[in-house]
Amino acid sequence: MRNFLAKAAVLCWLLGSAAYANDIDNIRIWPAPDNTRVVFDLGTSPDYSYFTLYQAPPYRLVIDFNATKLNVDLAKLQNESLLIKKIRTSTPKDKNSTRIVLELSDKIDAKVFPLAANDRYGERLVIDLPGRSIERRSEALTVEQLQERKVTIAIDAGHGGDDPGSIGPRGTFEKHVVLKIAKALADIINQDSAMQAYLIRSGDYYVGLKDRTRKAEDIKADLLVSIHADAFTSPQPRGASVWVLSTRRANNEMGRMLENKERMSDVLGGVDMRLEEDDTYGYISKTILDLSMGHAMSTGYEMAKEVIAEMGRVARMHKHEPQHASLAVLTSGNVPSMLVETGFISNPQEEQQLLTNKHQQQLARAIYQGVRNYFQRRPPDGTLFATSRSKTHIVRSGESLSVLAQRYNTTVKAIKERNSLSSNVLHIGQKLEIPSS
Ligand SMILES: [Zn+2]
Repeated sequence: MRNFLAKAAVLCWLLGSAAYANDIDNIRIWPAPDNTRVVFDLGTSPDYSYFTLYQAPPYRLVIDFNATKLNVDLAKLQNESLLIKKIRTSTPKDKNSTRIVLELSDKIDAKVFPLAANDRYGERLVIDLPGRSIERRSEALTVEQLQERKVTIAIDAGHGGDDPGSIGPRGTFEKHVVLKIAKALADIINQDSAMQAYLIRSGDYYVGLKDRTRKAEDIKADLLVSIHADAFTSPQPRGASVWVLSTRRANNEMGRMLENKERMSDVLGGVDMRLEEDDTYGYISKTILDLSMGHAMSTGYEMAKEVIAEMGRVARMHKHEPQHASLAVLTSGNVPSMLVETGFISNPQEEQQLLTNKHQQQLARAIYQGVRNYFQRRPPDGTLFATSRSKTHIVRSGESLSVLAQRYNTTVKAIKERNSLSSNVLHIGQKLEIPSS
């Protein structure tokens, strides 16, 4: 922010008079599946007005920045949004102002609002355009493609868009690494006939923390797994950890850092707090009143243990038990959730490792295996895990295949097939898998 102020000061001095009180220093366009966000970085808080020209195409949203100079080459802007056909200037109201025109694909009900400066950004003006903004990506399942009888995993790649997450010493953004791991995990899950994955974020854009849990609830996910990479103030700490929701604030430094970092996400990501109905900082106390929360929390804890066991085979673990923190992304009332910190991006070796496809794949497979182990042990009703689950029987004196078939409500043929038996002879102590009927 200091940069912006310095720049503005120099500019005023150069011009001799305060002809321009403000500058547009940068413009970013973030297309997401169901909206596009346009962010203007400004020297000071914006003095603006806007109107639409929707009588006939091209449909235009016109924004006037009063006493503002444009320092951005619009021809060089990266625009992949399906909603914005063109972004250009037009004759301003007066010689000291800037008029920006967005040519839109339709008459879009735009939301225009300022965002105050924070640790990373200066004053901003945000334009949110609702509507499908990116082509359907083949690798991610859509809500319509989800099937009811499969165990559904909502995968949340942390951060995105204006929120880069942690930044490694080599300049690696957490938001990019975790999206790769999330996509690898979704691919592996979607190859499992009993499971399916839904990516809450499938590209480089920000999704509000509450919207992430809301999405997991909407699709009736059996689990929400949020993927992150850790950072610390010094380069030494390393290793992965898995976090679950606690109703109390974290009681160690790492946990408090994680809680604070998560809160910064919505600020950096540009979720306009004033537009949020409910209190962003009071989410825990409210959600905890939900009686189903206890079940979701204990399930999340059990799953986290399975994931830690599998991750320990491919990665160094910073912690060997699930860690507790009060995190907004984990506060769904009925979807068990966990947050996986895949390693420390602030540690040079782990930053390097997290960048490799091999390690990303290994981490994804470990998370998948841990989750799968849990569902195999505790299959949700009606899922393939439940119907294909078999029991184990140890043969005792006097038992025959027909006796067992009758007892377990199955057939001799089914038991023989499941156990690859060529004869009907059983011996005491023999282990048999009994298929469910
Ligand atoms: Zn993170």
